[in-house]
Amino acid sequence: MLYNLHTHSRYCGHGSGEIMDYLSYASGKGFSFLGFSEHCPFPTGRFRSTRMPYSEMEKYENDVRSSASGFSFPVLLGYEIDYMEEWRDYFRSVRERVDYFTAGVHFVERPDGTFRTPFNDGFSDDDVRRYAEQAVKVMESGLVSFLAHPDVFLCRRHFDSVAEEASRMIASASASLSVPLEINGNGMLKDSEGYEGYPSGNFWRIASEYVDAAVISTDAHTVSNLDRTIPYVRAFAEKAGIAVLEPYVSDGGLSFRKEPQS
Ligand SMILES: [Zn+2]
Ligand SMILES: [Zn+2]
Repeated sequence: MLYNLHTHSRYCGHGSGEIMDYLSYASGKGFSFLGFSEHCPFPTGRFRSTRMPYSEMEKYENDVRSSASGFSFPVLLGYEIDYMEEWRDYFRSVRERVDYFTAGVHFVERPDGTFRTPFNDGFSDDDVRRYAEQAVKVMESGLVSFLAHPDVFLCRRHFDSVAEEASRMIASASASLSVPLEINGNGMLKDSEGYEGYPSGNFWRIASEYVDAAVISTDAHTVSNLDRTIPYVRAFAEKAGIAVLEPYVSDGGLSFRKEPQS
């Protein structure tokens, strides 16, 4: 079964391809499910360099809804949110008009009010701790269907005791809150340059002590990457002893069930 729930497009500014291009490609490949999860903008323009302007949200949402009508497989409208507690009411109101949210922690706020991203060097031990706390808060919010790239904090870090502690915090919260974690294919396309990188075998070794299944996604930012890493993500899951969660739509919205083992 081919599907993807973590899909970007040209709307985010660092991706390419129209919504319709992704749908046509997915249809041609025999996808049975496609979810769009553009980076959710903030009304204030926070983190504007990595997401569409707030004023484009309606256009994006209408584009997904109207483009989906010609396809026979379920097409879900979503966002990848950067959850912050002070924005809870805003995210709640957006969530009411879309089908699902995933969340990624792409920024952590230091006590001095500045933000750091795990995609850059200098993500400190305390930043990793803040990352884990933020990830837990996202899962506690009840707003997200799964946590995207839980191990992205290892993008420019080595796996050490701080990383292990963060991994345990995230995985145990995922298990107790029943919010699945994602194995992310996009990280596989990046050169980890001697760092741990993501998806991280060490993270998932720890995570497998708490969870036995995960969502798999390509986190595509180009049309041809929509399915490119799926075989590798599946192989990664198998090696980690993690079952794959298959999406389906029920009355309660987006749900998951474990794929039958082959
Ligand atoms: Zn992300
Ligand atoms: Zn993403």
